Amino acid sequence: MTQICRIRVKGQVQGVGFRPFVWVLAQRLGLNGWVLNDASGVLIEAQGAEMPAFLVALRTEAPPLARVDALDVEPLQSADLPGGFEIRASAGGAIRTRVTPDAATCPDCLAEIRDPSARRFGYAFTNCTHCGPRFSILRSLPYDRAQTTMAGFTMCAACNAEYSDPADRRFHAQPIACPDCGPQLWFESGGERVAGDAIAMAAMALKAGHILAIKGIGGFHLACDARSEKSVALLRKRKHRPTKPFALMGTLEIIAQSCATTPAARNLLQGPAAPIVLLERKARDHLAASIAPGSPALGWMLPYTPLHHLLMDAVKAPLVMTSANLSGEPQVICNADARAKLAQFADGFVMHDRDIARRLDDSVERVTPGGPTILRHARGRAPNTCPLPPGFDDAPHVLAMGGQMKGAFCLTRDGEALLSHHLGDLDDALTWDEYEKALGDYAALFDHQPQRVAVDAHEGFRATQAGRAMGLEVTPVYHHHAHLAACLGENGWPRDGGKVAAIVLDGLGLGPDGTIWGGELLLGDYASFERVAWIQPAPLAGGDAAQSEPWRNALVRLDAAGLAHMADKLFPDAPRALVRHACASGLNAPLSSSAGRLFDAVAAILDVCPARQSHEAEAAMALEALAIASPGAEPYMLRDAPEIPIAPLFATICEDLKGGVGKAQIAARFHATLAECFARRARRLLDEGQASAVVLTGGCFQNVVLLDYMSQALRGLRVLSHQKLPANDGSLAFGQALVVCASPKTPERS
Ligand code: ZN
Ligand code: ZN
Ligand code: FE
Repeated sequence: MTQICRIRVKGQVQGVGFRPFVWVLAQRLGLNGWVLNDASGVLIEAQGAEMPAFLVALRTEAPPLARVDALDVEPLQSADLPGGFEIRASAGGAIRTRVTPDAATCPDCLAEIRDPSARRFGYAFTNCTHCGPRFSILRSLPYDRAQTTMAGFTMCAACNAEYSDPADRRFHAQPIACPDCGPQLWFESGGERVAGDAIAMAAMALKAGHILAIKGIGGFHLACDARSEKSVALLRKRKHRPTKPFALMGTLEIIAQSCATTPAARNLLQGPAAPIVLLERKARDHLAASIAPGSPALGWMLPYTPLHHLLMDAVKAPLVMTSANLSGEPQVICNADARAKLAQFADGFVMHDRDIARRLDDSVERVTPGGPTILRHARGRAPNTCPLPPGFDDAPHVLAMGGQMKGAFCLTRDGEALLSHHLGDLDDALTWDEYEKALGDYAALFDHQPQRVAVDAHEGFRATQAGRAMGLEVTPVYHHHAHLAACLGENGWPRDGGKVAAIVLDGLGLGPDGTIWGGELLLGDYASFERVAWIQPAPLAGGDAAQSEPWRNALVRLDAAGLAHMADKLFPDAPRALVRHACASGLNAPLSSSAGRLFDAVAAILDVCPARQSHEAEAAMALEALAIASPGAEPYMLRDAPEIPIAPLFATICEDLKGGVGKAQIAARFHATLAECFARRARRLLDEGQASAVVLTGGCFQNVVLLDYMSQALRGLRVLSHQKLPANDGSLAFGQALVVCASPKTPERS
């Protein structure tokens, strides 16, 4: 029996070859009708006897980059359909076609660039509907070639034929290109373009130990041979980057030489997002010693552009691929900036003439016992909408401004949220420019007119100030409430799902009592929260200095435990008197229950971190690395009180130290203790029926040792943690938006 249906497809279905896929499918199944893109996704009207098979295949056979979130089918009595099947122009003049994230080179394109008989043999800008640059080349909407940085390249006849053929895998592939009509690659040295094969020259330079600046998808990288200690040390010296681990690029075979890769990790590496994946390091490898000193993990990514593949084929060696930027500034994206800023680091440049419209850092992800999790949400993952949890269908247009150190904002409308990519530390002027530009971009992308603005309660945050200056209704959201809501939202917790026990272990965030929070057990939901337990506060001596100098946190904790003499012994050369004076006078020494600073304190006592951290969380990561070596540790016993007593913890740690207990053992016991204190109290809230699940959120939950101890301590309970969004401040804006959507209060007028 012939059926006529109107089919609405929602999800990531535009710019991914969905319409030609529908066209091919309809031909195969003998349906007539049409397909088009509109504001909500893809709309189909079709009729034919094979309708049931058609509806199944729309989901099961969808193109690689497509994601079908919903398929709404409405049977029609009659329709005025064409005799065959047509792809129609997008409906509605002002309708905005969504753009998808940048995608790693697909197997078909890879085969093509390696096939000497193909016309794209060796071509570094090969792409198709299933792969290639998207968001990074978009200048404005709608997403078609004229609005991308491919606008200046006129398609040749051969490319145009592919572009116009619905049966071709390059049908409507906006960045389509070939050696005759597309972008060109060249090698540059000493400010001069060097004639010849750019890939061959780059490979030779890398093998000779040189450092190169290589233009990628979302920005420039600095690259060198990761096996050469001389090259890596030189890069560290030039970049003034003493210890922070370098990201690496290699094939799966190369990666396997230094790291264990599980099937789950290979899945992440090989997905179209092609993120940096943190992998457990083997005891021995062939990499330079200074690649990631002391780190139990290495961050690897696969080659994700044809340029990377060609280079990797030529070099056949692991490469450092670190983002190219001046200290504190964002990654360089344009050729002129690269020449001006990167010449001090790089001996040569691999350049091309396809502009990068938008800076996108590499995403960073890892596999935890609970599944894959995102640490940095950027290239390959953004822009991507996610459905809001049940109960938020009528959410207003909210713009949530996010935090400070890991700038990212979030838009909500019509039951969906759009979280921006990671923009970086908003203290930096260039990053701030980027943030402001992105605000406009994403609003256009999402057709979003903010009605309400959510900001962090900290008035000192740049994003908070900018949110207040917009002249809209502004709602301040407490930092750790936003963390709680972000984790709930990511897990699809319904708006009326009831209260949860949220263990928020984090860096710093302003609490309602005016002190700085960061180690809390909250009882709450999207709309409200109360503080049930917290880490005994200690002063942040010297304000910002307490963030970068772990010993300051150790000193105040030791002093509070009556162990000032230990502090004197451990930090003989530090300006201790200054810190003690600041604490006594209360000047520039705000109280904080930060879990992050507690990690710093313990790391400093165990002497596993420098006096001054050269990068964020350096001390905490060293402590985590130490604890990995001593699994299954027993927690220290701490008295049960809402304010978790920390002084006795430090007294015990010092006794252990004096008693000759190994540092790895102490580090592990500290992790176990923190987990145990919070888990015990959270469990009680569930036992008493006050909460129905435990939420784990905040930057400290990037620490897999902590996550592991916590999961063990919470065994048998329903636990919600982060997977699709970062546990750190990168997802703060998403939580802020949800709190505002659920907020019963009338917001204040800015
Ligand atoms: Zn492809
Ligand atoms: Zn061409
Ligand atoms: Fe935070």
